Amino acid sequence: MPRLFFVGGNWKCNGSREANRGFIEELNRAELPTDKVEVVIAPMSLHVESVVRSIRPEISIAVQNVFINKGAFTGELSPSAVKDFGLDWAIIGHSERRQIFGESDEFVGKKVEACLRASLKVIACIGETESERKANKTEEVIFRQLSAIKKELTRVQDWHHIVLAYEPVWAIGTGLTATPDQAQQVHETIRRWLASNVNSDVADTIRIIYGGSVKASNARDLASKKDIDGFLVGGASLVAAEFIEIARSH
Ligand code: PGA
Repeated sequence: MPRLFFVGGNWKCNGSREANRGFIEELNRAELPTDKVEVVIAPMSLHVESVVRSIRPEISIAVQNVFINKGAFTGELSPSAVKDFGLDWAIIGHSERRQIFGESDEFVGKKVEACLRASLKVIACIGETESERKANKTEEVIFRQLSAIKKELTRVQDWHHIVLAYEPVWAIGTGLTATPDQAQQVHETIRRWLASNVNSDVADTIRIIYGGSVKASNARDLASKKDIDGFLVGGASLVAAEFIEIARSH
């Protein structure tokens, strides 16, 4: 079964009502092959409602993070409230959450499970740091992050609601992109891990997207690799023309 190309725009802690309006006007006018690409945008939580109201209906909206529960957790978003609001997606385990906010592999696994339990789909981020890559630990780190997710999932079909984002930390926001061959090699390794540790159906059908300094100028080469099923885009997702070209790169 062919895997539908997937492009996520992670706006992180950026945007304003005016900037978002301009972006959305341009995106809504653009020709996008929406039968060939699934596009999901993750604005800052405060902007979600206005973006949902104005963006073209084929594009889905994600939150950038959730907590694992509802209740007395000041400042957090609960998965059930995100679903109740009408959203379908959450980004979980972004390296900025892991590194700046100290989210452990175990906590990320629990968050993935909490989202799936609330019927949210998940863009689950994994990836090694520069020093881990230099120490030849890329596989070890990725397998550990994947295992922490697997540990929380009780049903194999849960994996069908996950998109895995391989985002080498050294490539995020640095202008350093993994080469198409470097990314392909890790994506293939992830698929191999899934075939041995989940099953071959999940390994064949799950979307594995790449993130880390993706731009219009490198998207096409990356997208040509057989195990790269799309992108999670940070900086370049803030510029409509750039993001539109990335969404058309397949
Ligand atoms: P970048 O960020 O495209 O700015 O490198 C990617 C991400 O953090 O998801």
